[in-house]
Amino acid sequence: MSNAAEFSESRIDDVNLRFKDRAPEELLQWAAETFGDKIALCSAFGPESMVLLHYLSKIAHPVKVFTLDTGRLPKETHELMQKCEELYGLSIRAYSPDPVELREMVESYGINLFYRNVQLRELCCEIRKVRPLIQVLEELSAWITGLRGSQVDTRAAVRKIELDSAHNNIIKINPLAGWAEKEVWDYIAGHGLPYNALHDRGYRSIGCGCCTRPTNPGEDIRAGRWWWEQNGAKECGLHTRILDASMIPGRERASTQIQSDEKFQRANTIAGPPPALHRQRYGGKP
Ligand code: SF4
Repeated sequence: MSNAAEFSESRIDDVNLRFKDRAPEELLQWAAETFGDKIALCSAFGPESMVLLHYLSKIAHPVKVFTLDTGRLPKETHELMQKCEELYGLSIRAYSPDPVELREMVESYGINLFYRNVQLRELCCEIRKVRPLIQVLEELSAWITGLRGSQVDTRAAVRKIELDSAHNNIIKINPLAGWAEKEVWDYIAGHGLPYNALHDRGYRSIGCGCCTRPTNPGEDIRAGRWWWEQNGAKECGLHTRILDASMIPGRERASTQIQSDEKFQRANTIAGPPPALHRQRYGGKP
């Protein structure tokens, strides 16, 4: 079994070359043999995960699957998670945010702080997603993701195997790096795989329920994520570190307590209008 420290950039290049034209299951088989129980699939139950779970079910080595349960996921995502567990005989580990950090964030900035400004949205993603992920990855040598290069500009350079500089240089395996969205859906249809019921209601990329809306014809695949942000990165920080660490009160302290900070005082945040576009189109309170 290998660990991530054995992989230099040149060795990563060699492995990418070796698997350049090979099927995802061959790469997954190699990864499972190479990293043993120190590798896991991180799934948010998007269509790419449906393809990867199917490929993983065909390889000889079992691979752990985990998800980040932010506490704001749509019920359809939980329903799909259960369906996948039953279909593949899996026990999927769900990691939740630290309850103390979560409580302090909500008490300080409100339950829907993400609509106020980009920094608070990134803070919410940090507490609900990024920090739990960091804890999981500390135990692993490699993780598998459904990243594709054509999803969004920030992912254009994604490769099948990478050193993950955002997470202690562990190995990141992206078997679908070169796949187009259509290939993913063709695979799902061709193999009769389950998928999130929200996709049949116009959602193309699905995250937390409060931060996702359906997309309109002609819109970018990620346009429904944090739709109220203009020219935003459309990233939560799991794959691309976007949050300036100095913006997180308490980040550098041993205690993870979020304390009042001038930048984040509720009174100083921009209580921008609720997403009017969403209300006009879909009614009710987003
Ligand atoms: S997607 Fe929205 S609710 Fe979910 S963690 Fe990010 S800001 Fe918070």
